[in-house]
Amino acid sequence: MSPAERDSSPTKSRFLFLNKLDRINPVENLMQKIVSLAKRRGFIFQSSEIYGGIEAFWDYGPLGSLLKNNIKQEWLKTFVQKREDIVLIDTPIIMHPKTWEASGHLKNFTDPLVECKNCHGRFREDHLIKKECPNCGKKDFTPSKQFNLMFKTFLGPVEDDSHIAYLRPETAQSMFTDFNLAQESMRLKLPFGIAQIGRSFRNEITTGNFIFRSREFEQAEIEYFVKPGEDEKFFEEWVDNWENFILNLGIKKENLRRYEHKKEALSHYSKRTIDIEYKYPFGWAELTGIANRTNYDLSQHSKFSGKELVYFDEETKEKYTPFVIEPSLGIDRLLLALLCDAYQEIEGGRTETTKSAKETEIVLKLNKKIAPVKVAVLPLVKNKPELVKKAKEVYQLLKPHFICQYDEVGSIGRRYRRIDEIGCPFAITVDFETLEKGDVTLRNRDTMKQERVKVEELVKAIKEKLEEE
Ligand code: ATP
Repeated sequence: MSPAERDSSPTKSRFLFLNKLDRINPVENLMQKIVSLAKRRGFIFQSSEIYGGIEAFWDYGPLGSLLKNNIKQEWLKTFVQKREDIVLIDTPIIMHPKTWEASGHLKNFTDPLVECKNCHGRFREDHLIKKECPNCGKKDFTPSKQFNLMFKTFLGPVEDDSHIAYLRPETAQSMFTDFNLAQESMRLKLPFGIAQIGRSFRNEITTGNFIFRSREFEQAEIEYFVKPGEDEKFFEEWVDNWENFILNLGIKKENLRRYEHKKEALSHYSKRTIDIEYKYPFGWAELTGIANRTNYDLSQHSKFSGKELVYFDEETKEKYTPFVIEPSLGIDRLLLALLCDAYQEIEGGRTETTKSAKETEIVLKLNKKIAPVKVAVLPLVKNKPELVKKAKEVYQLLKPHFICQYDEVGSIGRRYRRIDEIGCPFAITVDFETLEKGDVTLRNRDTMKQERVKVEELVKAIKEKLEEE
């Protein structure tokens, strides 16, 4: 939905207040700890950091990219691979500019912008607390004007109005413009869905809270087309499907809640919208939304393109414009929720190290399915060449099957801590017994249980453990 329409909801204002609270009372610093861990361990970096960064753009580092990719794979598995009624498309971020006229984004995708007359800072009017300038504290602003959030660019070398194009603010519109093509080429029968994962861009006025609100982000969306009249039933079904997907990734139920948009605050296209909110360290805020977009988009594109976007029902011999249910998920917001949910600190630590047993230990209890590194291979000590050689052999054996990490630096306790901190579910220790008996220790991150497994059975054993619920 357009932020302008979303503004009047209590969720939004609650979130904004919490933004400020975040600065005063950083909720036991969880957010700062996540940001710092993300940087330190290669999950997420500030984009263009060497130039001082660029606001609201983020780089996913080596582990962050793997994590994000695993989340997307799970999404594809759940909604495309396992179902028979949803097809995937992959389309450019720039669409024909008429798209945005038809969809209503050119007119409606706006936020109210004001400028402080004293310090000239620019803010979203609805983000101001007590109508006070967050920079200088003055209360004197210019009248608000509607600011369109779409990034503008030009196609080709001529920079005039007839060459303007926009970076898409949502992936959804391609699913409407490709409706006939996908339906006919795949002979799809209602109800069916068209899915896409891709980048979207919004020139947000107020950014912040790490990757929660970025100017470039990734969305995973489904446009699920249904017969008019069946839309309400499918809407309910999709709210459940969506929530279950998030819960199955390991998010705690008590950290999720639903927020239903009030009728008067609905987007121009929406008959009903429910957000699933997550309890981020800065407060409850929208993680994802499910909307009943009716037949608005298909009708609009039919009107603007002159091409009929309708469905011919072979059973009833009727032709009609399907309704559409849209579950829309921000991958980055989900990734942030997963990091927050998985982060645990264990006072004094649970793994002894040679240095201080009193240090707090961080364990990232990420679901095995999405953990970026699945197995770590550790020789018990590094100064025994035969152990190191054997550990490297084990590492090479596992590498074709799993994302693995080899680590020989520091005490074994330290190394366990390092891999717990990145959420690696399994660790293999190659010790003196390995040389004698050909088995290794397999340690489980969560139970801390250690079992001996024959080297030749390792791949199978780990695969089975990764499949276990
Ligand atoms: P908000 O009210 O927080 O601005 P929205 O209601 O405008 O969000 P939608 O238009 O419903 O968001 O977009 C669908 C999903 O895309 C959101 O639920 C969210 O997960 C994600 N999303 C939207 N804007 C951003 C952003 N600036 N950064 C990261 N993710 C975003």
